[in-house]
Amino acid sequence: MTVPTSPRAFARLPLAELHVHLEGSIAPSTVVELAGRHGIRITREEAIARYSYSNFAGFIESFKWVTRLIREPEDFALITERLAQDLLRQSVAYAEVTISAGVMLLREQDIGANMAAIAEAGTAFQDRGLKLAWILDVVRQFSGEAAIAVAHAAAGLRSSGVVAFGIGGDELALPLSEFRRAFDIARDAGLHIVAHAGEIGGPDSIREAIEVLGAERIGHGIAAINDLALCDELAARQIPLEVCPTSNLATGALALQRRKPAALLANHPLKELYDRGLRVTLSTDDPAMFHTNLRQEYGVAASLGFSTTELVHLAENGFHAAFLPPEEKLTLIRTFRERAAALRLL
Ligand SMILES: [Zn+2]
Repeated sequence: MTVPTSPRAFARLPLAELHVHLEGSIAPSTVVELAGRHGIRITREEAIARYSYSNFAGFIESFKWVTRLIREPEDFALITERLAQDLLRQSVAYAEVTISAGVMLLREQDIGANMAAIAEAGTAFQDRGLKLAWILDVVRQFSGEAAIAVAHAAAGLRSSGVVAFGIGGDELALPLSEFRRAFDIARDAGLHIVAHAGEIGGPDSIREAIEVLGAERIGHGIAAINDLALCDELAARQIPLEVCPTSNLATGALALQRRKPAALLANHPLKELYDRGLRVTLSTDDPAMFHTNLRQEYGVAASLGFSTTELVHLAENGFHAAFLPPEEKLTLIRTFRERAAALRLL
């Protein structure tokens, strides 16, 4: 695929990344390294072949496959370090990284020990200009009971930098009402709430995430484009959507929402959602698994018709939608705007 580029000065702006899965950020070379640690032989070619899908179910299978190789706290530290290095290379100043705590629980791993290793690896990057925070998420194909156990674990991990609790996986699996109790526990513990919705599900899935779970941000949310009343509501309430165009193309979510068999990135509703006044942010979802990175996604946005001024606004949205204490958020926004002005982008 030819990758469009965003304006050169834009490449020097700091960015925020709010929707990136740690387990989806593992490059094929790191997959080989992790496998080697556990006496499994996987070639780089095999890993690359696994990162190719024809539909959402195929993607979930590959995601499960790669998580089988992440077994010890040291493995989590390694993949955190690799992701942080990659974010730094792209001048990302702030990232909220989603971690599948539901999968840790399924594999009978110690969530606390894994999070301690992740937090330690992440903290090392703070002095280099990258602040990381964590979102623990549960898997929608698993039970509400399992989610409650994860919520209790997440509630005790705020000191490790966990800022939010979320839900991912197969959106068409269990209804969100099954997870209400888990999300109540997380909210009562002071965690923010996020949910994947309107990715392969319809507009009602987004409404359900907001009304049943109290979601403050929506992962993907592209189905909103098929319900203009919902778009108006999301715009009025300024509920952010974490939009990941390349992911939507790779998983087939885009074809599903646009009801076209041969989906093209050009059909992506990112610009329409933005033009309707929704608080849209831009993310990668699973960068290694979708062969993308955050800079590339801004290139995609440029190809979808965002002007340079609009790209800057889109990037600033990422900081506004962050789960940061107000003062820290203001500082990051101020730095962003100063940099944009110095680069003559404002
Ligand atoms: Zn996601």
